[in-house]
Amino acid sequence: MTKKEYNIPPSHPRYISLQLREAIADGVAEGLSAPEGLIAHGRGEAFDYLLGECTLPPAITAIRAAGATMLLAKHPVISVNGNVAALAPEHVIELSDLIKARIEVNIFHYSKMRSLAIINRFQELGAEEVLGEHKDSSIPGLDSARAQCTSAGIYKSDVVLVPLEDGDRAEALRKMGKDVITIDLNPLSRTSRLCSITIVDNLVRALPKLIETIKELDTYDDIQLMEIKTSFDNNQNLKEMLNLINDRLGSMVFQSGI
Ligand code: ATP
Ligand code: MG
Repeated sequence: MTKKEYNIPPSHPRYISLQLREAIADGVAEGLSAPEGLIAHGRGEAFDYLLGECTLPPAITAIRAAGATMLLAKHPVISVNGNVAALAPEHVIELSDLIKARIEVNIFHYSKMRSLAIINRFQELGAEEVLGEHKDSSIPGLDSARAQCTSAGIYKSDVVLVPLEDGDRAEALRKMGKDVITIDLNPLSRTSRLCSITIVDNLVRALPKLIETIKELDTYDDIQLMEIKTSFDNNQNLKEMLNLINDRLGSMVFQSGI
């Protein structure tokens, strides 16, 4: 999240969540996110409540698999939209520098102005290159404007990180044979179920952890990284996450005496 001061006292019990909400509202005002981005954020907030607003153990396992997969990639790409630009642009840039991943803008509610606003946000913060202004290729089997992409970026990628993604594009990217990694607070979404690796966590918590994990895994050889990658089972991981949520809700009901 861009370090901006909002009028929220740090002592407020929902300080972090309210700051993120302000950042998303600013993102809409600045033309980064479409108004629909507020709704997507709200759905994320609701699931974050269910997780206890923390990174749970299955997410740590998924972050490790994602880190190994990104280190093994030949052409890694990070696909960004308006909400990502509003919430965590600095972390995306740091990650992109670390693994030499290209950043490409891809938005669901397309407008040239919004696309340029997102590119500008990343460039203002130091990104050397942000792809997506001139799309010269397309993802097969996808009817929405999101099919449009660049041949040097998403089209060519072997591993693509798509935080806060929409299910149909995740599916189309998988059908192209890519490893698709997402960060999605909703373990039930189509995206979560269709990706190769789903990190069920808040983007703003998961990205710094992914960066730290990649720094740690950098000393591993390819065989060790491949072992981490191939031993990950996305369905199993989502199941563990749902079980944890279930247990958590069960114990809360018990504690409140209902
Ligand atoms: P799908 O198309 O995958 O079934 P959806 O249509 O329910 O998903 P979208 O609006 O396409 O949802 O995408 C938004 C997704 O991003 C939601 O699943 C929401 O939980 C998630 N999300 C929103 N904010 C965050 C955040 N800060 N960190 C991680 N995930 C988030
Ligand atoms: Mg969707």
